[in-house]
Parts: sequence; C-alpha cells; structure tokens
Amino acid sequence: MKKTMLTGLKPTGNLTLGNYIGSIKQMVDNQDKYESYLFVADMHAITVPNDREELHKNIRDFIALYLACGIDPEKNIIYLQSDIEYIPSISWLLECNTYYGELSRMIQFKEKSKKHANFSAGLLTYPVLMASDILVVDADYVPVGIDQKQHVELTRDIASRFNKKYGETFVIPEPVITTVGTKIMDLVDPTKKMSKTEENPKGVIGLLDDINVARKKIMSATTDSEMCVKFDMENKPGISNLINIYSSLSGESISDIEEKFVNSNYGEFKRCVADRVCEFLTGVQERYKNIIESGKLQEVLDDGANKVRKIANKKYEDMRIKIGLYR
Ligand code: AMP
Repeated sequence: MKKTMLTGLKPTGNLTLGNYIGSIKQMVDNQDKYESYLFVADMHAITVPNDREELHKNIRDFIALYLACGIDPEKNIIYLQSDIEYIPSISWLLECNTYYGELSRMIQFKEKSKKHANFSAGLLTYPVLMASDILVVDADYVPVGIDQKQHVELTRDIASRFNKKYGETFVIPEPVITTVGTKIMDLVDPTKKMSKTEENPKGVIGLLDDINVARKKIMSATTDSEMCVKFDMENKPGISNLINIYSSLSGESISDIEEKFVNSNYGEFKRCVADRVCEFLTGVQERYKNIIESGKLQEVLDDGANKVRKIANKKYEDMRIKIGLYR
C-alpha cells in the first residue's frame, strides 16, 4: 500500500516562478509515489491580521495555480482546511492534551510573538491545529521546511500521548525536510531568494504576472560585466540564476546551455530566457483561467471536501468516544 503524504499551502503572497521550479514541479514529478493530500491552510493564515478580499483571492489562486502547473486532482485529494469543520473540533480535543509549556517553547511562536506587542491566542495554539491537519488523515509523511520541523515533532508527541492515554488512534507522522529543487534567486538582487512576499516586484516573476511585464523583468535582470554565459553562482549569481531558470523550464543541462550560448551576448541570452519564461507563463495562465471559468476549481474542492470530511468525521467520533464525550 502507498504511504500517505500531506502537504499544506499557506495562502499568503503571490506564487512565483521560484515556487514552481523549487517546489511545485517536484510535487508534479512525484505525484504517483504517494497517496497525496494537498490542502490550503487558510485557517493558519488568520493567526495574523488579513485583508478579506486578498485572502479569498489567494485561496482560489493557489489551488487554481497548482492545478494549472500540473497537480492532478485524480492523483491528489485537494481541499480547503476551513471546509472541514471537524478539524478545529479535533484540534480542541488535542489542545486539551497539549501543555502550555510545549506551545510556548516553539521557536516560531517565540520569534513571531516578539515582533508584535499584541498577538492572537491562535499564534500560540496553531501548532495544535497543524497537528490536527496531519493526524486527521493519518499522514505518514509531512514535507516541511526546516522552520516547521519542530511542529511535526510536537505532533508526534501529542499523537503518542493520546495513543498511550486513550488507545491506538493516530499514525505517528514523520517530517520530510523539503530539499529545494533549484533555488531561484531574486532578479534584482540575485544573492537573495525570489520570494512570494518580496516588496519590490521587479525581482520577482509571479505566475500571474502580465506576460510583457515578466519579459521586461527578465530583460532587466541584474547580471555582471563579463559578457560570458557561464554558470558560477558565487561570482556570477545573476547569469547563473538565469541559466537555472532556462534549464528548469527547458530540461536542458547547464553545460548544454553554456555551450549553446557560448557566442551570445547577455541581451541575446536574456531574450531566450524570456521566451521560455513567457511560453511557460502563457500556458499556466490559460489553464488557470479555464480552471476558474469552467467551474473545475469548485468541483475539485467539493470532491476533496466530501472525501476528507468523511475521514475527519470518523476520526472525531472515535476520539469523542475514547475521551468519554458521548451521550
Ligand atoms: P514559500 O513561498 O516560502 O512559502 O515556500 C513554498 C515552497 O516553495 C517551499 O518548498 C520553498 O522551498 C519553495 N520556494 C519558494 N521560493 C523559492 C525559490 N525562490 N526557489 C526555489 N524554491 C522556492
């Protein structure tokens, strides 16, 4: 039987070419390997203040873009966290089996609470909501960045404690530290990662960027004065980043690209990179539009919600009975 993998997406900022190359592309390549659950962690997004319209738009855009980038709803169960009403109920049952000391020791809580004079209680308790996301679907694996590893470890502690106290209820999940496929750098400052929450849009290619704007961003990307298309991340980070982008989108190796552009100036090379990027974005944006306009997005989310609601209901009832919460 296939192992179960759960991936959560936090709908903040605008998905970028970096998200596609470093993460979504790998998920697409691996989607046959696991029984995959993919959800938008919209309830996690509200631990800090949010704009209502923007949050709603991001939720839809995230799912539609993942689908447009090749995530197959036949191979992944895709759902919205807030559609599954049992998740916060389960979270409460887990919270009552979690210690305040454990939550207040979480590094992310300590860092984020320091930044704000007044923060929500949700900022403290959200790792338990995360535990509930993971445990409800009996996930074996949870791919996370290093910053979230501690939360999966807490999930393991909470699950083991519950199993010991009330009898076998949860699969103990394992964190899988995500290795970035290829790290895509900011086009203006190629020494820092291209980020979906970057303030200066000039260095970032958004998956929904206007095609002409995206082309201009590539054409004005920071390079160097050498005029030689050669991969050298340390001394030529700008050109190396463009080579990485070209390689990821075309499937051509770095050495083949260096050879192909050996006699080209930077303008010619950038035009070819821009052509690749624009061709990719055009395809993604056409599929994105179709997914939204055809009603496919709602269909996928309805289907995912129906499936996960059944699983979550069963888990919740099992927990209630084990705890003694029944008539
Ligand atoms: P974030 O956008 O930081 O929430 O990250 C979501 C996923 O996309 C993670 O797996 C990141 O490693 C990946 N990712 C984000 N930005 C980049 C980038 N510039 N290059 C490669 N991978 C990225």
